[in-house]
Amino acid sequence: MKKKGVSSIVVLFPLLLCAVLISVLPGASLTPENTPYEHVILIVVDGVRSDILVGANTPNIDNLTASGSFTWNAWTVRPSNTLAAIPSIFTGATPGVHGVTNWDGEIYAETFVEVFEEAGLPCAIVGEDPILGGYSATYCTNYYGHPQAEEHFMTLAIDLLRENDFYFVTVYNPVPDHMGHQYGHSSPEYREAIEDADYHIGRLVENLKELGIYEDTLIVITPDHGMTGHSHSHGYATDMRIFSVWHGPRIKENYQMVDNMYIPASATYDETYVAHRIIDIAPTMTELAGVRAPWDAERNVITQILEVKTPPDAPSEFPLIPVIGAVVVVVVIIGVILVIRPF
Ligand SMILES: [Zn+2]
Repeated sequence: MKKKGVSSIVVLFPLLLCAVLISVLPGASLTPENTPYEHVILIVVDGVRSDILVGANTPNIDNLTASGSFTWNAWTVRPSNTLAAIPSIFTGATPGVHGVTNWDGEIYAETFVEVFEEAGLPCAIVGEDPILGGYSATYCTNYYGHPQAEEHFMTLAIDLLRENDFYFVTVYNPVPDHMGHQYGHSSPEYREAIEDADYHIGRLVENLKELGIYEDTLIVITPDHGMTGHSHSHGYATDMRIFSVWHGPRIKENYQMVDNMYIPASATYDETYVAHRIIDIAPTMTELAGVRAPWDAERNVITQILEVKTPPDAPSEFPLIPVIGAVVVVVVIIGVILVIRPF
């Protein structure tokens, strides 16, 4: 009986040891604690035309492009209007797939907000349009027609980041679009609205720096479409062309994207090359955040902005095989001693 008890210990010991070894090996599951970013922030500035932005006084966007990646020549969807384009930003799908082209539309495609929420990464949407509130976020606003929307929305987004309850925060600025419709794209009012948008982006950056999370946060800035005269819905090149700015870990610094994507000609604009399409924003954000792409996204990641990975220093891998081998040898020796030794 005594010998049988000793044999059980001999058999169980390596099993217990293996269980302990397996329990200390690094896990691979995604949790809010091991995504690459403290926060992901998306700023949608409605109706900003690229060439007017480039000519405006926008020191804060300039700082982000100097330490991030950017293009003035990306491409929105057709129809080039807000209600079609913003769901394309969030789903990575064209309006023909997500189904929204007017105020009555419902999204028939998964958004990256749903993907983040599914992964346990809570999302907040701060904006004006009802369409912005329909994304299953933990928190969303609907302040249509707020008189100081630009300042109010950014202040609310900053407050949410200070409370630190949300992984993803998007903030929407409707004012450049309103000024474009009212005064035209060449008006001082339109330019001033773009410069004001830049000022509020600067407030956001300052707050992130104060919180000590600026360097750990992904910031993406995009409009939904451009502007031609008092409108943007005709699909002219100046309606279709948008900019994008990407800043944060894993993003190249001071990198202007190469125009390497062919856009064929149509009845209303000439064929051209662009850096990326608006539907590439969603799959790129999810790729960077380490979650899956939305189901309906076309999944063309903007790989040219990704920092080239340098091989890490030789990892201190756990010497699992030698340890198990040594344990087996020790166990066999103990077993032999116990078997041949008279008790
Ligand atoms: Zn718009």
